[in-house]
Amino acid sequence: MKKLLLAAIACISLGGLAACAESGSDQQGGDKAAPITGEVNLYTSRHYDTDLALYEDFTRETGIKVNRIEADADALIERIKSEGEFSPADVFVTVDAGRLSRAEQAGILAAVDSEVLTDRIPANLRDPGNRWFGLTTRARIVIYNKAKGKPAGLETYADLAKPEFKGRICMRSSSSVYNIALLASMIAHDGEAKAGAWAKGVVANFQRPPQGNDMSNIEAVAAGECDISLVNTYYLARFDTPEKRKVLDAIGIIFPNQATTGTHVNMSGAGVVKTAPNRANAVKFLEYLSSESAQQVLANANNEYPAAKGIAPTSAVAALGSFKPDSLAPSEIGKHEARAVELYNAARWN
Ligand code: FE
Repeated sequence: MKKLLLAAIACISLGGLAACAESGSDQQGGDKAAPITGEVNLYTSRHYDTDLALYEDFTRETGIKVNRIEADADALIERIKSEGEFSPADVFVTVDAGRLSRAEQAGILAAVDSEVLTDRIPANLRDPGNRWFGLTTRARIVIYNKAKGKPAGLETYADLAKPEFKGRICMRSSSSVYNIALLASMIAHDGEAKAGAWAKGVVANFQRPPQGNDMSNIEAVAAGECDISLVNTYYLARFDTPEKRKVLDAIGIIFPNQATTGTHVNMSGAGVVKTAPNRANAVKFLEYLSSESAQQVLANANNEYPAAKGIAPTSAVAALGSFKPDSLAPSEIGKHEARAVELYNAARWN
């Protein structure tokens, strides 16, 4: 009785998924409530229209239908945990290394033994236990107002806290996962004390209280409202059109930490859910996402760097220049994200 009840709950919580309609029908899954439909149920925090075309292409190639639930990654992790063995989720997709690591830590991801995936995705962009695989990456870099000149002595993230940059920096809120992951990486590299002092130093240099997002901070720097900010590479690539080019032309970029640990990168990635009712198809789906054509669609959709080996990013991304990325393990970022939030709060970086 309890199982039947839970099956019904799993069905309701699944919302519009086709899999739901078959709940309770004969299935091969023993006492598993989630039906084996031969489809792939995707729990994702990616939200690009081009992804939909990709799923359709996968269905055309393989005959396997893709059902999708979109939500915030932490909500999806909680949902998969609470659905437990009845979860219809086959594949978990998110856009932060810390959350990939948290999903793995939460025990919701299965190790996948696929030569296709381990051949295509480099070791530094996948879980050592192959429980998740990177799909695309982005770097968080310094931008500055070109008209005011390249800020002397600004070569690292740490330099942003130097007193000479007082009144010159604008940033988005510390609640952004991009800023949280960055500070988590600094904790991993330099320890909590230095990371906390850095957050305070940057706050002391703010030209205005944190506001907007990466896009609006790019525009603020281009307009000279402030001189310096930190943004993700793909937002800059969005200004590579004739009308928007003016914004990009007004901005200089610095890949931080090139002489030290490398520029902080974050990634989107995916893993097969441990309780996946359609596991074989879930693996096929991940293998498809690592293929050259899918990698191009995934990366180009958001001007990111493809994770798979030997695939070039868009010309707008390539034009930003090449750089040495930080090779810190995502598990290190995941481990320190909670502390990073506390340090931001202590620094009053709202
Ligand atoms: Fe973004």
